[in-house]
Amino acid sequence: MYKNGSIGFLDVLLGSGSISEFISNIDMVQKVHASDKEVLADLKDDYKVVKEKKEELDRLQSQLSSQKQREAEKQAQLTANKSEVSKKKANVAASNEARQDNIQDLNAEADHIMAIIQEEERKAREREERERKEREERERQQKQQQQQAQNGNNNSNGNSGNSTGGDSGGSSDNSSDKGDSSSGGSSGGGFTWPVPGHTRISSNYGWRICPFHGREKHTGIDIPAPYGTSVKAADSGTVIYAGYLGSYGNAVIIRHSSTLYTLYAHNSSLVVGSGKKVSRGQTVAKIGSTGSSTGNHLHFEVRKGGNSYGNDVNPWNYL
Ligand SMILES: [Zn+2]
Repeated sequence: MYKNGSIGFLDVLLGSGSISEFISNIDMVQKVHASDKEVLADLKDDYKVVKEKKEELDRLQSQLSSQKQREAEKQAQLTANKSEVSKKKANVAASNEARQDNIQDLNAEADHIMAIIQEEERKAREREERERKEREERERQQKQQQQQAQNGNNNSNGNSGNSTGGDSGGSSDNSSDKGDSSSGGSSGGGFTWPVPGHTRISSNYGWRICPFHGREKHTGIDIPAPYGTSVKAADSGTVIYAGYLGSYGNAVIIRHSSTLYTLYAHNSSLVVGSGKKVSRGQTVAKIGSTGSSTGNHLHFEVRKGGNSYGNDVNPWNYL
């Protein structure tokens, strides 16, 4: 453009008709040239601005695209997380279907349960001892009264005859195996089913190989039933524990005799309190999934007291 401009100026000068016109043309050409220079400078400035703007635009564009990429990565992560969550949900649903308990967790509670039963047995022994002493005291007093009455008779009748009776030996009422049971049906096969109408077993009593914990023993049977279903006392007896019991969740332990106990675990709620006498088939709790449990079910245990110190036994021997 500048080049074209100078050719234009030459044409103008060469085309001058007179010297004065030539001079005035030179003056004009100089002015135009100066003005062109300004225009050029302006153009250069403009170009610089445009160039800067373009660079800024490029920068913004690259920022935008990297932002877009990050956004896409986040979205991908989110989708991955979502699929992870739905996978986990599916796993939970599957284990819910099993409706069992974590045996390892339950077994960690075994000592606690034995302690509860042993404590109950200690209290029972104390109770029996107290009752025996009271009985002996009563008998002693009765004997004394009889003796006094006899002595009175003897005195009025004179000193004839000898002292009758004598030591008949210490009283030894064999009450060791007497329990609270009024039905007396706890000698094997006598229990009533604790969750009427629900007979499926999701996990049976006994030893098994767990993929995570190896060889382990399931101390009871698991009976799945809907949340809130009534749990019944397998036999009459006295509630010796009603409350939270670690991995057993809300649990009830019933003493049927001095050596026989049943345990009802994972309940959503308890209907009876500790110390209460219950009859066979009476509702003691409601089905739930408290403690270490993967779904609504009753974990039903039978435990022997006495010499076996609260050890679990096969419930099927009593059902
Ligand atoms: Zn169980």
